[in-house]
Amino acid sequence: MGHEASPLLPEKLPKVDTTIFTVMSVMAAKYDAINLGQGFPDYPMSAKLINRVKKALDAGHNQYLPMAGYFPLRNEIANKVADAYQATCDPHTEITITPGGSYAIFTAISVLVEPGDEVIIFDPAYDLYEPAITLHQGKTIRIQCAFPAYQIDWSQVKQAITANTKAIIINNPHNPTGQLLSTDDLEKFEAITNNTNISIISDEVYEHLVYDGKCHHSILERPHLYSRAFVCFSFGKTFNCTGWKVGYCIAPESYTAAFRKIHQFNAFCVNSPMQVALAEHLADGNDEYQQLSDLLQEKRDYLRNQLSQTPLKCLPSHSTYFELYSFQRVSTATEIALAERLVKECGVAVIPVSEFYKNPVDNKVLRFCFAKQTTTLSEAANRLKQFKW
Ligand code: GLN
Repeated sequence: MGHEASPLLPEKLPKVDTTIFTVMSVMAAKYDAINLGQGFPDYPMSAKLINRVKKALDAGHNQYLPMAGYFPLRNEIANKVADAYQATCDPHTEITITPGGSYAIFTAISVLVEPGDEVIIFDPAYDLYEPAITLHQGKTIRIQCAFPAYQIDWSQVKQAITANTKAIIINNPHNPTGQLLSTDDLEKFEAITNNTNISIISDEVYEHLVYDGKCHHSILERPHLYSRAFVCFSFGKTFNCTGWKVGYCIAPESYTAAFRKIHQFNAFCVNSPMQVALAEHLADGNDEYQQLSDLLQEKRDYLRNQLSQTPLKCLPSHSTYFELYSFQRVSTATEIALAERLVKECGVAVIPVSEFYKNPVDNKVLRFCFAKQTTTLSEAANRLKQFKW
């Protein structure tokens, strides 16, 4: 094609670059490094579920499904959250299937945020929240979860609330720290939001990846919180298929109606064979995700044990695919600089946690994804053991 100058585009996200997860995965490929950066499993997903997709394709499930999602799948989700959280959700009016968890969060932000609205998020924060708020001309208010325990200080949240506060986004289980909100946290959250017009977006995509005998408490368990919430989930994490990009949003009827108003003009609906396969899989009682915690806790512990033979210091995670490690005692490099060196000179890609803050806070911690085969983790650990910090 010719190279005539294209018209200038509006700059809607002037401060935003390519997401760190893509940057590190591209670097990992370029330097042939082991990718413990972007969070995805490198072990196979269920062959049974794959076969169900093949069967669905052959059976002709290749045209549009309803905009809100394949009804049998929504029905199975209603059963699933009734079992897990004793929550009663109407699959007709409260559950929408989405192309992934991120899309559900983005759509919820689109529903809520008007110019000038304030949305509270917690640092370190997943990188999608602020750009989505900015695109809708909202203002992001970031509250720091103090290093190294990363707990939410609810008195700070109370102070941050103004007449313009439209929403609060929580991420529980938390990426990147692996911390969980306790019942006490949720009680405080409820006390702060009761009798206000503040809405909640709850990013719970790691709901089934919880360790050390701990328990994930969903917003779905609390009617007061749920009455003002969009609760976002991901089948990618539940069935080891992040590339499928299938998730769902559960929200009260009026919130779901507003959500679908936008969704119908964006994705409209989610790919059919995967929805049919997931519905059949869940209906058949396939709850292998209940064993995920044991599997992943073993992987976390394996990596933890291996890395205890390096100068890295573990900041214990209780959930998600991730654990943080401090390099404070061996290097004064910035997190970004060290992460770059590790890809290039050690052959291991990880994520600098400073990327989860707006004004980079450099606590000298890196995020490691342990959702990998033992051989992958072992090879990465061997490289790190030999690395000259
Ligand atoms: N959620 C994944 C992570 O934290 C990345 C997803 C993505 O790259 N969009 O690593």
